[in-house]
Amino acid sequence: MAEAAGAPPILLARLRSVSPSSAELLRLCPLRAILAGSRGTEPFVLGNPKAWLGTAYHRVMEGIASAAQRGDPASGARMLWDDAVRELWQDAQSHPLNHRFGPPETWPGYHLALAGAMLHCQEISPGQHLDAPGREGWHPDQILREQYLTAMAGKLVGRPDRVARREVTDYKSGGIYEDRSATEVKASYIRQLRLYAYLVRQNYGYWPEKGVLVPMLGAKVEIELAPSACESEAAEAVSLLGAANAMLPSAGDAARLANPSPKSCGYCPYKIICPVFWQAAQPEWSGPLRQACLEGRLTAPPSTVHGGAAASVEIDVDRGAAPEGHEVIAPLSSRIHPCLAGDWHEGERVRFTGLALRPDGRPGTCSLTVCARVRDLPELRVAPADADSLAVSPDGA
Ligand code: SF4
Repeated sequence: MAEAAGAPPILLARLRSVSPSSAELLRLCPLRAILAGSRGTEPFVLGNPKAWLGTAYHRVMEGIASAAQRGDPASGARMLWDDAVRELWQDAQSHPLNHRFGPPETWPGYHLALAGAMLHCQEISPGQHLDAPGREGWHPDQILREQYLTAMAGKLVGRPDRVARREVTDYKSGGIYEDRSATEVKASYIRQLRLYAYLVRQNYGYWPEKGVLVPMLGAKVEIELAPSACESEAAEAVSLLGAANAMLPSAGDAARLANPSPKSCGYCPYKIICPVFWQAAQPEWSGPLRQACLEGRLTAPPSTVHGGAAASVEIDVDRGAAPEGHEVIAPLSSRIHPCLAGDWHEGERVRFTGLALRPDGRPGTCSLTVCARVRDLPELRVAPADADSLAVSPDGA
């Protein structure tokens, strides 16, 4: 990609450790795992209210034990929920892309998620409301919540949601099954449970017998955990980390770190800045991606529609997950896409991601649409070998 005009380059550096969730990203696409820990990506990443509801759910489950000790569990849970969604919304208001989303009550699935969180809180009996002690004072009958654990010389890290004598629990904000038939639990979630079990074994000296997945909506599921499978999983996660780090110095450019495909890129929030995605994407990807993403040249400056409240742009599309050829994208709200009020001239190269697929196959705008001029986007550069490595978030999601 040509030198960016407006944004400093994003430096891709070695990952210091791998967590249960970053191991899954490494499997899908090492570049995505590295971008998830890189500085400078935030302004280009559109948040997702569904994910924010999941974060709020985690905060409630994390805090309910101590809140319940102080008083009525139901009102404690509701307070935790309200504080979490308010904070998430306030953060969104100061983000260049996320300010488009309305108050929490308008987020899709808000009321269902709230009901799910309140229901799971009721399942926590008063006897389980134990403070988590430090490692030194741990007792087998106690319940630990959100303890930061490390193993394999610090290369494997994780923060299991809840650890009891015989089980490790992971709260999940999305569905836990591979498909709608609800017969097969997601393999990625089982792998994550195994890694948490390994961390528990290395830190507390015993193997949890089972893992428990607690979805925000629906019944919990228990998975038997075999120590040998947990050990293999840990070895594989650290090997994925080593392989990604070993690739970096010789990578030269981001392409050698990436594994673009509809599956890897589907939920990847870095599409708009990822040069590899734009090199690899094909028109037929739009179906599996469930969105159109296109790049091309403006054939005219944006024109105003809806009495000036929105804009329309005409593009000669020449790559991406969308048919090539002339395309009109509208309406683009000037409040949501203030970049359009700048210097978008005829001939500029522009990108759109998150376009809805209309019944006629044409791309249309929606609340997930992001656009930018290519020259305003940051370049991805491999950091020098002696650059600081990146710490990953230990949290599962
Ligand atoms: S867009 Fe695709 S290739 Fe690029 S980082 Fe994301 S998953 Fe990897």
